[in-house]
Amino acid sequence: MLGRLGWVKSGVARLKRLSLCRWPGSPWHPDCATEVVWSLLYPDVCQVCGVRQANREEGYVCGACRGKAGNLRRVRAPFCDRCGLPFAGALSGPFRCSNCADRELHFDHARAAVVATPFLLDVLHRYKYGRQRWFAPFLVGLLVEAAAPALTGAGWDGLVPVPLHPGREAEREFNQALELAAALAQATGIPLRPQWVQRRGRTRTQALLTREERVKNVRGAFVLREGCRLAGQRWVVVDDVLTTGATTSEVAGALKSAGAREVCVWTLGRAV
Ligand SMILES: [Zn+2]
Ligand SMILES: [Zn+2]
Repeated sequence: MLGRLGWVKSGVARLKRLSLCRWPGSPWHPDCATEVVWSLLYPDVCQVCGVRQANREEGYVCGACRGKAGNLRRVRAPFCDRCGLPFAGALSGPFRCSNCADRELHFDHARAAVVATPFLLDVLHRYKYGRQRWFAPFLVGLLVEAAAPALTGAGWDGLVPVPLHPGREAEREFNQALELAAALAQATGIPLRPQWVQRRGRTRTQALLTREERVKNVRGAFVLREGCRLAGQRWVVVDDVLTTGATTSEVAGALKSAGAREVCVWTLGRAV
């Protein structure tokens, strides 16, 4: 697992950070004390390869793991102008994929930061279900890097994460879509409205369902909080992964029934 070199390196990095404290040499200063406790619990080692150095700000994913072929594939044009599905090859004009051609989607367009590669899904799974929250800066960073330039200053009125059913949120202790949306709101200045869309009932997990079943499973699952009026507004829906778009489309539909003029979707990952 952790090589001796890794321990030495992480120790040196810790000491370097401590020396940046405004009260050097005071282990009782709150920031220093937190840092010491944190670094003892979580040494500066990549939590993917377990060998190379990676710190808290990097979400404990090292440069080599990020750079390894096939791990991170950023979504770049050309892609379907509706659902954001990347298309291999050259295209001259706007294109719509066959997935979108025969469906009614309530969002105007969906975009994603990276392709949902096995590497991304594995890290996301550990973060969501394995309580490995230290991956947050890595995952959030990918979304913000791609979405913030596209959203900042473009006149969006609000950001809403796809809500979990309260029961499921209590089991998991957090909503990953909310963490992503909060970071994006902070980076772009778009107001975050986590309570405005609510889940009506407990739906089945989408992962094991077919496309048709997914659409049925979430139909009518989201409602806007009473009294929310969005007439003529433009909203952004945030989720972790877009697969068929059934869930985000339903959230967009709820926003549109409250009067939203335009709804776009941003997700961290895009299943291809
Ligand atoms: Zn690594
Ligand atoms: Zn499409």
